[in-house]
Amino acid sequence: MDRISALAVENDRYRMGLRDRKRIVIKIGSSSLLHKETARLDYHQIDILARELSDLKNRGKDVILVSSGAAAAGREALKMDLDVYKNETEMNVKQACAAVGQARLMMIYQKAFEEYNQLTAQVLMSRATASNPTSKENLNNTMTELLRLGVIPIVNENDSVATAEFSLGDNDNLSAIVASLMGADLLILLSDVRGLYTDDPRRNKDAQFISYVPHLTEQYLNMGKDSTGSGAGTGGMATKLHAAKIAAASGCDMIIASTENGTGVIYDIVEGANIGTLFRADKEQGFDLSRYLDEI
Ligand code: GLU
Repeated sequence: MDRISALAVENDRYRMGLRDRKRIVIKIGSSSLLHKETARLDYHQIDILARELSDLKNRGKDVILVSSGAAAAGREALKMDLDVYKNETEMNVKQACAAVGQARLMMIYQKAFEEYNQLTAQVLMSRATASNPTSKENLNNTMTELLRLGVIPIVNENDSVATAEFSLGDNDNLSAIVASLMGADLLILLSDVRGLYTDDPRRNKDAQFISYVPHLTEQYLNMGKDSTGSGAGTGGMATKLHAAKIAAASGCDMIIASTENGTGVIYDIVEGANIGTLFRADKEQGFDLSRYLDEI
């Protein structure tokens, strides 16, 4: 068997084990929460997301949602045009949008999850939460208690007060930090990105899709380094690969997948379907999160 076929077999076999993962972090990007045509909230997809996560919960998993979309929901509520917002908006206006939108987003999530009998909680964090040992411990204690109580924590960066230089900026890295701090064994990054290609598929039509990354070597890291973000969110492939570094080194499998066919994809991923790119856990001896935070 050649190396490519051997990797494909290994990928299929490894993915079968995903259904046994116990603690799952799901990150949803702004682009997956909005209608492409109008950049307004897609309530249908939000409802499916709530159903999928509630079902995972009912299967006995610990479920943590890291949701972007605060700024997007605020911009929508304040009736700002997406292009104007992206190109001309000052930081204080963006932060005001995030403040309006975060509350709105939680209201929408709470309603959606209530349909499936699930309680949710809002957890807002910052870079300092992940770097300060006391804050880190507080976060862990609170989240552990929420999970013990059967609540689904919904995490975002505290955008309305984060400063430009000291914010994490994208929820790809934030979700990997959460996965690492909470000892999750699976992280699923959902956005409008299908996964890793050998080159940026928007610029190179010969770029090949990669389903399985057993070890995150320089060769893979170089594949995404020039890519840019999508229309609504902030993270591109480079931030997703950095998130994969954190996840893998902390012993957590990570999958990048697209919601082009809807947020229902979560069920198939956890069932082991060959969707998106799987970055296999590759636990680093003496893993130290602060070293990775310095790179963000
Ligand atoms: N925290 C930002 C928000 O909720 C999103 C960051 C990102 O796009 O990754 O609007």
